[in-house]
Amino acid sequence: AIKPAERMTGLPTQFFAKLVAKANAQMAKGRDVINLGQGNPDQPTPPHIVAKLQKAATNPLYHRYPPFSGFPFLKEAVAKRYKEDYNVDVDPATEVAILFGGKTGLVEISQCLLNPGDVCLVPDPGYPDYWSGVALAGAEMRFMPLTADRNYLPDYSAIDEETLKRAKLMFMNYPNNPTGAVATSAFYEETVAFARQSGVVVASDFAYGAIGFDSKRPISFLQTPGAKEVGVEFYTLSKSYNMAGWRVGFAIGNPQIVSLINLIQDHYYCSLFGGIQEAAAEALTGPQQCVADLNATYESRREALFGALERIGWKAERPGGSFFCWLPVPEGHTSESFADLVLQEADVVVAPGVGFGTNGEGYVRLGLLTSEARLIEAVERIGKLGLF
Ligand code: PLP
Repeated sequence: AIKPAERMTGLPTQFFAKLVAKANAQMAKGRDVINLGQGNPDQPTPPHIVAKLQKAATNPLYHRYPPFSGFPFLKEAVAKRYKEDYNVDVDPATEVAILFGGKTGLVEISQCLLNPGDVCLVPDPGYPDYWSGVALAGAEMRFMPLTADRNYLPDYSAIDEETLKRAKLMFMNYPNNPTGAVATSAFYEETVAFARQSGVVVASDFAYGAIGFDSKRPISFLQTPGAKEVGVEFYTLSKSYNMAGWRVGFAIGNPQIVSLINLIQDHYYCSLFGGIQEAAAEALTGPQQCVADLNATYESRREALFGALERIGWKAERPGGSFFCWLPVPEGHTSESFADLVLQEADVVVAPGVGFGTNGEGYVRLGLLTSEARLIEAVERIGKLGLF
């Protein structure tokens, strides 16, 4: 038998793969399954972006290797978006790395910065891809608990001295997957102060930057004075423009970190297909009404879902951003036993909170990624189980 490298054994098992398998098994029985467990945007990419790719695909320039680190026009496009949306000045030449989706950067930054024995601070609950990069770097994770009483913001003062001495990198993610929490500028200022004091590099995962509710646009970490000295932000088109399948993202911020990420990207990917880069630039610089419309769709889905939750007596806080709802499971259940029950008895897929870390126990995550009617139906089916 082939013996994999030791670093492979540290990779977390793909939690979502397990979820998909369970959902598929239920569907194979011929059941009408409503899948609220995954984070896959359900709507198509806006047509003006698709049209750009169709045209660009015929450009022979793009049939050759793209330049290392990508085309300058795409870096300029993302810099323009940051200026317009956040009033942040970004130097496209030195402060932007083009990524093959945000995921690649989130994994690569650990390889860029962590040696074996170094510590990475990771939110719990949190997005499991942070764990993968740390594992591949042979480094260690220390979890920062995110709890409802602190609005799911970590408490830096609770990190012990020994951990602080060894910590080199931390991840944060607002709007948050899985809790739907949003950050405040005061928290980001505290984060810059913490990073300066401890020497920890900040990786801000802004994957849900375009999705904020109640007329509150999520703020970017880079709006915080000093943010670029201490870290980078990961920004992706997957959610903001319904482009998850296109695999385009960026690392923006500290030029030294950006150049390390560019270096590793050059070795792995060279860069993205030029046509995709052109379409991505169109997304960023073309009409932005699609982003506002998407936001409004998620907000009205949120309202439809929470209306239905209230009717069955399932009490929970509304998310401030992202397209996820973080709901406590009824007494007597673990997140997994509840998720299994609603799949078997109600044909509804929800993501068990424990898949996002120990602190996720006691919750399930529901995605606002289907129509209002289906969201309501899912909750009504769960309501019939009489658990609330
Ligand atoms: N970060 C978070 C918190 C996510 O939930 C996701 C996708 O689900 C990503 C990053 C990855 O985004 P991308 O599609 O750009 O790789």
